[in-house]
Amino acid sequence: MNQAWLPVGRQLRSAVRAAVDLALPPRSLATMKGPAAAVQASGLDADRWTRITFIEAPFCHACGMPFEYDLGDGELCVLCQSGQRGFDRLRAACLYDEFSRGLILELKHADRTDLAGLFARWLARAAGDVLPHAQGILPVPMHRWRLLGRRYNQAAEIARPLARIARAPYLPDALVRSRPTASQGGKSRTGRRRNVAGVFAVAPRWRRRIEGRRLLLVDDVFTTGATVEGCARALKAAGAAAVDVVVIARVGLMASRRA
Ligand SMILES: [Zn+2]
Repeated sequence: MNQAWLPVGRQLRSAVRAAVDLALPPRSLATMKGPAAAVQASGLDADRWTRITFIEAPFCHACGMPFEYDLGDGELCVLCQSGQRGFDRLRAACLYDEFSRGLILELKHADRTDLAGLFARWLARAAGDVLPHAQGILPVPMHRWRLLGRRYNQAAEIARPLARIARAPYLPDALVRSRPTASQGGKSRTGRRRNVAGVFAVAPRWRRRIEGRRLLLVDDVFTTGATVEGCARALKAAGAAAVDVVVIARVGLMASRRA
């Protein structure tokens, strides 16, 4: 471990904590003026805010899957124990359910890019233990044809302010999708893996900034992990030392069992 950056990491952690304090879900909107103001500033009403289930410890050390009971430090879920994950650690801000889904869809389809700053602060809080180690932050890429239709990549909209909070290099075009893929929706874990197999690649001019670095990949939703695992494998094939992932929302136990 490189000791030189540790004090910086500690400083950064407290800076990140300060930056995300306003993003914390308020316990009582009536008594906490600061967070309540942040809720209003975000365009998120209190009712919708309190319905979001933020993920707190205990969770799987590797994939961030929430555990019902504290199994001890560094404990892994069954899937992570099997060593099938392409990434190193994943952190998620909240559970993927009908409430978070509605918000994320607004970012995706309703031109609510103003939500991106709020989500970035949620991500900074959720990734508090991995963010200080990030030597580069990048979004899961969207194929350029799809980008034409939607005008912006929602993962990039969150990754950019997150890199600013972390004061880490932002690498927006390092990873590319070599062809458009069908939606991952409705597919099994195997089907999703097949759908994105060989799709992600590191653009040659970015290789130098990937090699030997610990990277943080940003996406909106984590379901089976096929997409971020495909990205992580491509980054590691290009020489990345490690790839962590942070998402707005991830499925919990029930959905993971189905997947
Ligand atoms: Zn796990």
